[in-house]
Amino acid sequence: MNHQAGPSHPESPKRLEAIYAMLEERDMAEIFQKVPVRRAEREELLLIHSPEYVDRVAATEGRDFTSLDPDTATSSGSYEAALLAAGGLCQAISMVMSGELDNAFALVRPPGHHAERSRAMGFCLFNNVAIGARYAQESYHIKRVLVADWDLHHGNGTQHSFENDPSVLYFSTHQYPYYPGTGAIQDAGGGQGEGFTVNVPLSIGNGDGEYVAIFETILKPIALEYKPELILVSAGFDIYKNDPLGGMGVTPKGFAGLTRSLMDIAKECCGGKLVITLEGGYDLTGLKDSVKKVLNELAGLSETEISTIISQTSQNKIHNTAKQVFQIHRKYWKNLSI
Ligand SMILES: [Zn+2]
Repeated sequence: MNHQAGPSHPESPKRLEAIYAMLEERDMAEIFQKVPVRRAEREELLLIHSPEYVDRVAATEGRDFTSLDPDTATSSGSYEAALLAAGGLCQAISMVMSGELDNAFALVRPPGHHAERSRAMGFCLFNNVAIGARYAQESYHIKRVLVADWDLHHGNGTQHSFENDPSVLYFSTHQYPYYPGTGAIQDAGGGQGEGFTVNVPLSIGNGDGEYVAIFETILKPIALEYKPELILVSAGFDIYKNDPLGGMGVTPKGFAGLTRSLMDIAKECCGGKLVITLEGGYDLTGLKDSVKKVLNELAGLSETEISTIISQTSQNKIHNTAKQVFQIHRKYWKNLSI
């Protein structure tokens, strides 16, 4: 809440205010277990970022305003907020890995998926989800982590962190061409990591049915073959139908469907180990309502029918998207050649 990105910036503390107020409502209060937040350790940040860059962000502490990128600025409390965001996610991961929690949602800001090794970008300071993936690998000796990213934007920082590394599979749906410009369908990773980056660029106008169908048709077969030991999610709510930054049409029900799809994969592969982290989402009502649906799904208070959501969409549209992705990825994933 103490990270101010500048006056009238869409990535504002109001986003968490709206979510926290929703958690106090009668039907939500006292259902969820709070994860005690902690600061990320420097060594944890260095799993993804360069020491010089960590120092540069640290130097903003106590300063009213520092511009790190045309879209990304800090206030006096931003460094600490960024440490708490990355550290809070690591803590949530640790409690899920140890079995203390079934799953978790890190309701944090600043977001992370645009942050590069040595560069702040797109409202992001530290790449929370990338740090979380490496933290899980280091602390729990797991070999395969799936990062699914349904944010409106492509997670350039996350892709770049792992594009040569088969131990983290990065899957992203994103509006394309759009900010940040990365995430072409042909980008499938390189070296040892070839085939372990899966990009699904989308034109505007995709809604609940299309998104859930893409997760079921493209992500699920790849994920079941990959067999992740932990699933992390970059959850951006800027694909919400009224988001001021995006052109997608997802409703709260669609977010519940995406969560259910990932829970099904997690149940089959890794005992349900699923940790979601907040990325974008700038319509406050849409953000609050959608996060609520995701939380209810995670808690088992609702069980969204995926098939009903998918049946409302044009199968042709999905077929064409899937065909293009399968052409690139068929050689890496046996499940896609069936
Ligand atoms: Zn976004």
